[in-house]
Amino acid sequence: MNTPLPAVVVVGAGVIGLTTALVAARAGHNVTVVAADRPEQTVSSVAAAIWAPYHAEPASWIEPWAATTFDVLAEIAATTPDAGVQMRAGVVVHRAGTAPLTWPTTVAGNRPALTDQLPDGATGGTVCTVPIATMSMYLPQSIRGKGEIKAAGNIPYPPYTMYDTDSKPTGFDYDLSQALGQKLGIPVSFNQQAFSTIIPSLLSKKFDVILSAMNDTPERQKTLNFVDYTHGGFIILVKSGNPDGVKARLDVCGKTVSVQKATVQGELLRGLETQCKEKGQDGVQVLELPTDLDAQTALRAGKSQAYVVDAPVAEYVVKTAGDGKAFELVRDAEFPAGYLPVFSGMGNLNTDPEFTEALRAAFQALINDGTYKKILDRYSLTSYAVDSAAVNQGK
Ligand SMILES: Cc1cc2nc3c(=O)[nH]c(=O)nc-3n(C[C@H](O)[C@H](O)[C@H](O)COP(=O)(O)OP(=O)(O)OC[C@H]3O[C@@H](n4cnc5c(N)ncnc54)[C@H](O)[C@@H]3O)c2cc1C
Repeated sequence: MNTPLPAVVVVGAGVIGLTTALVAARAGHNVTVVAADRPEQTVSSVAAAIWAPYHAEPASWIEPWAATTFDVLAEIAATTPDAGVQMRAGVVVHRAGTAPLTWPTTVAGNRPALTDQLPDGATGGTVCTVPIATMSMYLPQSIRGKGEIKAAGNIPYPPYTMYDTDSKPTGFDYDLSQALGQKLGIPVSFNQQAFSTIIPSLLSKKFDVILSAMNDTPERQKTLNFVDYTHGGFIILVKSGNPDGVKARLDVCGKTVSVQKATVQGELLRGLETQCKEKGQDGVQVLELPTDLDAQTALRAGKSQAYVVDAPVAEYVVKTAGDGKAFELVRDAEFPAGYLPVFSGMGNLNTDPEFTEALRAAFQALINDGTYKKILDRYSLTSYAVDSAAVNQGK
């Protein structure tokens, strides 16, 4: 009778831990993986993943290890297109002062780079074709299997969402959705949905993710995970000339203020009731309307005396509405970045944290390669940038 193999406990769920666990399990061990972080939260999940020879000890072990890894990855690239591994041609550049790397004999066709193939200051390099793993291999199978990510946005809410002259969606949210799709290797469709029913549209599985300038709040986090992408406050807009003399937040006490339905702005205004009473005035009459444009129109038509909106949107509206002559911003000296700066972000159902992590990692890659900044610049949103891709920062 065969002696049972000892049980194995692997600590760590990154690429090293999971590979070790897989190999041990295939060899017949009973394997348990213990890890502080899930796979999608590890360095392995977000770092670059290009195969290359490396320095380690003992040196004699490196070549067979590197050769085996190369062969396995090259086979995956050739046989399993969905696995996210591709063979890429390029030049591996050697840093000044480092010993040349030892290339396994299995890496066919590698040869020293010519001088004009090297950047300034490089002492040498190797022309080669090597495997590179892309992030989409980390995307949950359920989403990858769909062949498409369906994004929901409430249009128009410029500069986040709007239509171009051909009635096609455009704006920050649209451009970001397309850039995310490219990083993930999956097409993203961008679909109009009323803001007040946008969360239910995810619950009913009509759409996968919301990209609609949505504020990340603890209440919404009960249903959604947010990958936060801008940070800014709320601003009051009034008619040009400020006929009602609104200069600060509490100047809206006793007045009618229009907002888009189901937004945080409505709650913010209702929350001023106590402070208004302390001033001996009535609370704010909140006029909630289906779209942001309706809220603007109400102000223009005199049905409200002010309109409250996200600061990034307010700047755009003031610049563009009525050729820049319809509204003005109330610059409250006490709150220069707007009231209650909050994070806004893309939201997916919090029952699918792996998809959240795929979005977060893809967004981080867009921050790193400069795409995010280009999109922000395109829509004058640079002042509201986030530094890194993080989840559920709304408090
Ligand atoms: C920017 C960057 C670029 C890179 N580019 C490349 C590249 O092109 N090619 C390449 O081959 N490599 C690259 N690397 C290196 C490669 O990403 C790492 O070597 C590899 O991901 C390490 O994998 P790992 O499983 O050891 O660690 P990790 O992915 O960090 O996983 C560690 C695991 O251990 C768990 N853990 C740690 N401490 C404890 C504890 N005390 N108790 C319980 N669990 C614990 C963690 O929770 C996690 O699950 C890059 C790295 C970086 C940062």
